[in-house]
Amino acid sequence: MKTECGTTIISNGQLIDGTGAEPISDAILIFTDGRIIYAGAAKEAPELDPNARQIDARGGTIMPGLVEAHFHATYFNIRTLEDLDIKYPVEYVSLLASVNCRLALECGYTSARSGGCLFNVDVWLRRAIEDDLIPGPRLSPSGREICSAGGLMDWNPEFRKIGMEGLVFIINGVEDARRAVRSLVKDGVAWVKTYPTGDAAAPDTNDHHTLCMTFEEMNAVVQTAHNHGLKVTGHCRATEGIKNALRAGYDTLEHGTFMDNEAMDLLLERDVPVIPALYFEKASVEKGPEFGLSQRVIDGHQETLDGGAASALRILREGGRVGMGGDYGFGWNPHGDYARELTYFTKEVGFAPLETIRCATKTGAEIAGFDEEVGTLEVGKLADVLVVDGDVIGDISILEDRNRLLGVFQGGVLKAGTLAPRIETQVTVDG
Ligand SMILES: [Zn+2]
Repeated sequence: MKTECGTTIISNGQLIDGTGAEPISDAILIFTDGRIIYAGAAKEAPELDPNARQIDARGGTIMPGLVEAHFHATYFNIRTLEDLDIKYPVEYVSLLASVNCRLALECGYTSARSGGCLFNVDVWLRRAIEDDLIPGPRLSPSGREICSAGGLMDWNPEFRKIGMEGLVFIINGVEDARRAVRSLVKDGVAWVKTYPTGDAAAPDTNDHHTLCMTFEEMNAVVQTAHNHGLKVTGHCRATEGIKNALRAGYDTLEHGTFMDNEAMDLLLERDVPVIPALYFEKASVEKGPEFGLSQRVIDGHQETLDGGAASALRILREGGRVGMGGDYGFGWNPHGDYARELTYFTKEVGFAPLETIRCATKTGAEIAGFDEEVGTLEVGKLADVLVVDGDVIGDISILEDRNRLLGVFQGGVLKAGTLAPRIETQVTVDG
């Protein structure tokens, strides 16, 4: 990914650095050749280069680019789960995924950590983004997900005689678990996404209190993945599934819905980040009827929304790390709505705006493994920066509106926002 040449000065705004520190009013951010050389009060800034590019933040906010920590580039706003593996061939899914990546960047998401993808599309999206062929977030890729036979993702009945080669590895036992991870090693992914537990979406056989993998399978995944330098995460709702994941050595937890005291102790002992992805639940409750979800499924999503919100707040208050990522890519929770997760956490879960922003920037970058380069506005880091028209502390929902993004910078390059040379038309992909 190319970085900008020359110097840019962004002034006339409050600066939020992403560390959780209080905003600095009337601040200046300066970056040269794509790297930040000053972030602080205007009155203490070094002498300004008269030839530098000047960006006026118009009294708004200068902040780090956002990190979507549970991103599914290849989920194409599906209306039913079954669409994921049978509706389109991988060729078309790849094109849809590239559009989703562009959209994420235009929404201010300069980095993303994948929560699983179809085939091996993520790895090649990362390559295309890194090579500046397509715009998109810096991507920490996952691959095909891993679930045990009969578990949440093994939904095709036997009589259909179709497997799930594009979406998941269906495993039976530790040998299959190792084989699946070894395939992912060869694919070149950074993350192995697994399904330790079920979900409210499948109330008959794999609800949110059901385990979908054995501890031995999970342990085999982690041992094999860590041996090859890959990280492991998992869809963890049921309390026992959370504990199994923590004991097996998982690197992050997706959802972490039903935490108890013992699970909290295990979590904090290793400081494992959790990505609750609550907006998926909220959207499932609110728009479920419109999309044909049964009342039983909707009630289950309400239970996991309530449980997940309480757990997320507890994790943050007890000193744990929470990432922001809303599991977007379903018809009722489409790509482009990413920042609704931030609004929900701030206005309904009880996170302070600065806490939500820290989770969505610094913590997100830590989860993605990009924290040495991006995630905060600090000297020496790459200039992944948002310039927002308005006070995001006063109203964080401003971030939902792309028209309020004046600039989206990646490595100092102005890639999107109303000040960008080319303003993208509205992109919506309806699967
Ligand atoms: Zn997901």
